Amino acid sequence: MSTQKRVALVTGGNKGIGFEVCRQLGLKGFTVILAARNVDKGESATQTLKNKNLDVKFLKLDVTSEADIDAALRYVTQNFGRLDVLVNNAGVFMDTAVGESDDEEHSIFNAKIDTLRASMESNTYGAFMLCQRFVPMMLKAGYGRVVNVSSGMAQLIQMNGGFPGYRLSKVALNAVTRIFADETAGTNVLINSVCPGWVKTDMGGENAEIDVAQGADTLVWLSELPTGGPSGGFFRERKSIAW
Ligand code: NAP
Repeated sequence: MSTQKRVALVTGGNKGIGFEVCRQLGLKGFTVILAARNVDKGESATQTLKNKNLDVKFLKLDVTSEADIDAALRYVTQNFGRLDVLVNNAGVFMDTAVGESDDEEHSIFNAKIDTLRASMESNTYGAFMLCQRFVPMMLKAGYGRVVNVSSGMAQLIQMNGGFPGYRLSKVALNAVTRIFADETAGTNVLINSVCPGWVKTDMGGENAEIDVAQGADTLVWLSELPTGGPSGGFFRERKSIAW
């Protein structure tokens, strides 16, 4: 089945920045596939947006599960026949306290390899697998926008100590962006990384600088880039930033 309506899939759509991206894309007339790993939370978030008369479908998707990602491709193919926008938003911040003091707890000297591995599974390999499955569909359609939600903490130009699981996984996500962008250069499939800023969510905390509406803005902007727009870039506040 094919539809004329634009279709977007947002991972980690049940709360935080992902939920707000679903809302904003819904308001722009997209059919939004709100993907979440937890069925109850995902269905509840979907219902909240449906109650606002937005066209939102729930999809169970744990980005660390290759079976879920294959099922997502089947679901999109069978129900829509197209995917215009993929927002790889799902993410974790797993670097936890070890030792007594603040200085010690996030240090790379104390980092656990399991934390680094798990961070890569969610923040890097999930987005990699989703791009690998969905970008060919976009190339076939001659249109696609992929938004990989990274972080300023991945910028090599200002790489500081601490939080190695998160930093490494987002640096690698940026490399995923660059590699897919290079292999699709010259097409109308545009693949970019974004830092949403420091956003008030469960991850960002209540002391963060901006609300979810502002945090989602550049993600939504990248979701609607015009033909000839940038690909393989890194953006914050709708501007290019250094890797
Ligand atoms: P959040 O409120 O903690 O939300 C994270 C979302 O990702 C949740 O929906 C969570 O699902 C989902 N998720 C985590 N692991 C998943 C998995 N394996 N499969 C599917 N979904 C998974 O965080 P947020 O602040 O909105 O963050 C969204 C993105 O922005 C992340 O990639 C984050 O790294 C990035 N970011 C955030 C900030 C900030 O200041 N907030 C700054 C820079 C970058 P559950 O509800 O089931 O846990």
